[in-house]
Amino acid sequence: MNLVLFGPPGAGKGTQAKRLTQVLGIPQISTGDMMRAERASGSELGKQFDHYMSQGLLVPDELTLELLKKRLLEPDAAKGAIFDGYPRTVPQAEALDKLLAAQGRKIDRVVSIEVPLEEMIDRVVLRRTCERCGHIYHLRYNPPPSPDACGQCGGKLVQRKDDTEEVVRKRNDEYLAKTAPILGHYGKLGIVKTVSGIGSLDEVEARIKAAL
Ligand SMILES: [Zn+2]
Repeated sequence: MNLVLFGPPGAGKGTQAKRLTQVLGIPQISTGDMMRAERASGSELGKQFDHYMSQGLLVPDELTLELLKKRLLEPDAAKGAIFDGYPRTVPQAEALDKLLAAQGRKIDRVVSIEVPLEEMIDRVVLRRTCERCGHIYHLRYNPPPSPDACGQCGGKLVQRKDDTEEVVRKRNDEYLAKTAPILGHYGKLGIVKTVSGIGSLDEVEARIKAAL
């Protein structure tokens, strides 16, 4: 099973991907994490990543594909992988299709976790973060013992600068603009399923499993 997981920032995509690795026995592939690891390893490929990343430039698709190709040939990925945060563009999706085809496989399923904008705003705007230890609360779903003090360390709870309705709307617009064409690409292959991202982690996980 080769699976691509989509979801807006804050929809719990990363958490669900981790859970699915357990259920499906296949690794989660995050190109961002892999690039950082390769860069830290000092390999030839890593040095090329460093060249772009140290200047804040986008890493060319060919380099990312080379990394993916290598990763997919590792034994733990023999039965498939969960792609998290990749592809981000239609050309990347097409290149991934080709890469997989060369290895005799394909993307079997694309699951898009959908959370209504109002729900996303609600989740983020009521979020409070401990200034001292970074612990995250939600005033409704995961309330701290006192509204201004961290239950873990007693630090001050603050609303982070980015945790505003305006930022959520902007991120959501960007996400939809970016994702719609990619979902269109996979949609033509008839492999896209959408699931609701509302509810507990267990509920969302059950929906994803049912969609596979
Ligand atoms: Zn704290």
